[in-house]
Amino acid sequence: MSPRRIFVAALATETNTFSPIVIDRRAFEASLYAPPGRHPATPTLCTAPVTVGRRVCAERGWELIEGTAAWADPAGLVSRGAHESLRDEILDQLRAALPVEAVVFGLHGAMVAQGCLDPEGDLLARAREIVGPGVLICAELDPHSHLTAKRVAAADFFVAFKEFPHTDFVDRAEDLWRIVADTLDGRVRPVMCVHDCRMIDVFPTSRQPMRGFVDTMMAIERDDPKVLSLSAIHGFMAGDVPEMGTKMIAVTDGDADLGARLARELSERLFANRGHHIMPAMVETEAVARAMAAEAGPVVIADMWDNPGGGTAGDATVLLRELLAQGATGVAVGTIWDPIAVQLCSVAGEGAEMPLRFGGKSAPMTGEPLDAMVRVLSVVPDAEMRFGESRVPFGPAARVALLREDGSETGIEVILNTVRAQSFDPSLFSVMGIEPSARKILAIKSTNHFYAAFAPIAARIIYCSAGKPYPNDPATNPYRLVRDDIWPRCENPFGGET
Ligand SMILES: [Zn+2]
Repeated sequence: MSPRRIFVAALATETNTFSPIVIDRRAFEASLYAPPGRHPATPTLCTAPVTVGRRVCAERGWELIEGTAAWADPAGLVSRGAHESLRDEILDQLRAALPVEAVVFGLHGAMVAQGCLDPEGDLLARAREIVGPGVLICAELDPHSHLTAKRVAAADFFVAFKEFPHTDFVDRAEDLWRIVADTLDGRVRPVMCVHDCRMIDVFPTSRQPMRGFVDTMMAIERDDPKVLSLSAIHGFMAGDVPEMGTKMIAVTDGDADLGARLARELSERLFANRGHHIMPAMVETEAVARAMAAEAGPVVIADMWDNPGGGTAGDATVLLRELLAQGATGVAVGTIWDPIAVQLCSVAGEGAEMPLRFGGKSAPMTGEPLDAMVRVLSVVPDAEMRFGESRVPFGPAARVALLREDGSETGIEVILNTVRAQSFDPSLFSVMGIEPSARKILAIKSTNHFYAAFAPIAARIIYCSAGKPYPNDPATNPYRLVRDDIWPRCENPFGGET
């Protein structure tokens, strides 16, 4: 008997449709672009189905046919050329791979392209057309995604990361492949049920009530052999698409009634806690005052909405201006994106003192550019920080001290970067010559992914909502396409129903 043949590919990014930064093919190539067989041994966020699939298939003697894997760091719309060329590249590879018994994708699920509101639904539907109804199609998703009806119709099942921060993307790829293997071996028959929570919220699992919710999902999976996988699709509020919102997925072994009941019950629990999942935040005036009053440092202030990981530029100056206005000292800011300012500092060289205008250029409501006398303290051409096992580049980067008019230091230093990057890890400071644990205040740009690495060194963590770099209030965001009958865009989306 010839070995089973399975096709795997990945196509992923997260699109903030309000961001001015368009993604082209070069942006994928700068983040991850791996033609067949060229994917590295370690996975990026959305490509674990490739690396886990290699191991699973090798163990069973199955043939894994690898297609392209591509990931671009979150930003704005994907250009039509990039979207269609990557999609068609993968679909051509699938056609060439036939016959296959399963198609496994690593997707993010929040991509939006020029001229296409549902690229993942489009990819899955075209893949279904190519392989026909009898072949298993499944994907791993980021929970910050849009679960459209087109995707659900085209695929057999989805598995999403449960944790936010997404520490479990490899574990969930293992779940995905376990269900694939059990299905092909005839041990299970996956049936997917979806329930619409009719809401949008932010669901950090590092705190309650979402911590308990994830624990409940895992306990049900463990205790009920009929339940193959449970996923909460959080939704992604920066994506202005018609089907944006929170959804529950239940994948059972042939038991649609059980799946529908679980998806509904878990949805009701999320809806009952609406508004209580998000981390409590302070505006910048209060955040800075509290940080300055703290007895011990470092106090980490997360500029939670100017997060390049959510597609923003990462050049907002609102929090930095407040630090200056209140006279905070012992401050390190990491980072503010400004390639031009980095260029000027690099040419001037370490030790140079110069007037510098930086930040606040990319979008309205992110503060004005800041004019300051600065001293260039260090320039690092290839700066990178750790993120778990992987490394995230953000250089060339420059570290500058902000000076008063008399040339004395204000006690505030800023790291300016060239490659947009979320502040994942304190190593972003140490690579620039700053000992992070010795500073009173660390101001960083991240919504929640920073938490795992910064919590061990932080005396206190403050989530700060400063300015409006990101569409962070779904009740008032200027959506054109998002439906109005979801909470908090309406108070009671279920009307008279219970
Ligand atoms: Zn996510």
